Amino acid sequence: IRVTFTPIHRRETGIVGTIAVLQDVTEQEKLEASRREFVANVSHELRTPLTTIKSYTEALEDGAMEDPELGLKFASVIQNQTDRMIRLVTDLLHLSRLDSKEAQLRKQMTPVLEMLEDVADRFSFQMQERGIKPTLFVANGVDSVWIDRDQIDQVLDNLFSNAMKYTPEDGTIAMEARIMEDKMLAISLQDNGIGIPRKDLDRIFERFYRVDKARSRNMGGTGLGLSIAREIVRAHGGTISLQSELGSGTRVTFTLPLQEQGGDGR
Ligand code: ADP
Repeated sequence: IRVTFTPIHRRETGIVGTIAVLQDVTEQEKLEASRREFVANVSHELRTPLTTIKSYTEALEDGAMEDPELGLKFASVIQNQTDRMIRLVTDLLHLSRLDSKEAQLRKQMTPVLEMLEDVADRFSFQMQERGIKPTLFVANGVDSVWIDRDQIDQVLDNLFSNAMKYTPEDGTIAMEARIMEDKMLAISLQDNGIGIPRKDLDRIFERFYRVDKARSRNMGGTGLGLSIAREIVRAHGGTISLQSELGSGTRVTFTLPLQEQGGDGR
């Protein structure tokens, strides 16, 4: 708590009193600290690929280009790092739009079964390559939901790609949709991959938080996927949670209000 005293002067009588202001600065300081941490993280995440790009272009200039095989290899490293920076900046822009509430949700009635089948289709090539089998269960009574389809597709893509990234070959990814008692639709994705240690679970939705930074980067991760998913789900009035057991798998569940078209006052 910050206390400031301001004396009150009267020309005739001198000091007649004091105003004391008590201010709770803990929240403010916490916000400021997390803002600083965020900027430091962004700078670091951008600096790493830039440093790599710089050293590989220098090596090309210094003669690596004369060996065509080596030249191509270096060019592909540069391309990978550029792709990574593009992914990062795209994710950051998306987050900043969600933060500023600038992103109006464009809601439409969306059939749940079709939406989930489409996610699995988008990943079918990758799944086939890695021998991962998907399953889909949609409970009785689940029909359509009033959502911004593009944004929820992004949530599903982020969760599905995590399930793929952190599940070894021949694993399974199970998607499930059911209706909860409180008229919410619950969608969950369960994998039988590497899981997340208990000590990391509390912080897993934080921006740039990863269990294993090196591993996540190698897999092409930006560390922003889960935080973007959480912002989108919250903007819809839902919640997202994650349960995980190290070595046996992870289950992420998010909920969405099941309301009729136009029923949300937008
Ligand atoms: P990333 O781009 O690194 O995947 P996310 O925000 O999507 O970032 O996830 C944060 C971290 O949570 C990941 O780096 C990973 O350590 C962990 N994680 C997320 N999903 C899973 C999963 N299905 N299985 C195991 N670990 C996961």
